[in-house]
Amino acid sequence: MIEMENVYKKYPNGVVAANGITTRIKQGEFVYVVGPSGAGKSTFIKMMYREEAPSKGTIMINGMNLSKLRDAKVPLLRRQIGVVFQDFKLLPTLTVFENVAFALEVIEEYPENIKKRVMETLDLVGLKHKARMLPSELSGGEQQRVTIARSIVNNPKVVIADEPTGNLDPDTSWDIMKIFEEINQRGTTVVMATHNREIVNTIKHRVIAIESGVIARDEQRGDYGYES
Ligand code: ADP
Repeated sequence: MIEMENVYKKYPNGVVAANGITTRIKQGEFVYVVGPSGAGKSTFIKMMYREEAPSKGTIMINGMNLSKLRDAKVPLLRRQIGVVFQDFKLLPTLTVFENVAFALEVIEEYPENIKKRVMETLDLVGLKHKARMLPSELSGGEQQRVTIARSIVNNPKVVIADEPTGNLDPDTSWDIMKIFEEINQRGTTVVMATHNREIVNTIKHRVIAIESGVIARDEQRGDYGYES
């Protein structure tokens, strides 16, 4: 369902951040993407939701060829992919409910469906009781839960997360991981770049290690690796 074939990415400054990546991620898999800073993890992930386009090679997501995808079709892709960032990027003047509903309204859902779906999703991340609050009234962990709710409210087949626990304390990080586990157990593919060794070594999943723009290691139930 996610296929990369000989993907190569050279930034305008000449940096080669992907240097011949070929991999395949099946529907329902949970994949950690690990590797040193600057190795190309974010680039790998950004190419999956077409934040960056590859310079060469083929990327297929749910049968869509991203190399050939016209700009007008990008919203169609984004509807099938939820994205979670390290810095939360919630809209500060909107309530928790509105921040999550926003993701549905932009695809023209009916109002009654919006309410039902948003509250179900907030329930899943444990924040139904805070639906009327503003992001500034929430802790960092709670804000991250809202962004996760926002990313899954459309029922995407894939959730892509770049360092989702990067700014969170260890306890909160575990809570956030439980939500990703739950999402994955419902059949959603999860691709997560992380530096969190403890999480990768405890909640075992496939590990793709990227070094200098290539896949250096790809193991089912892998370890984080890289001695600290
Ligand atoms: P990681 O996520 O593993 O830290 P990145 O994918 O962010 O790695 O970066 C890989 C390499 O590409 C680094 O050398 C980085 O400086 C470079 N890079 C990333 N984004 C850009 C960009 N927009 N323009 C130029 N170089 C970039």
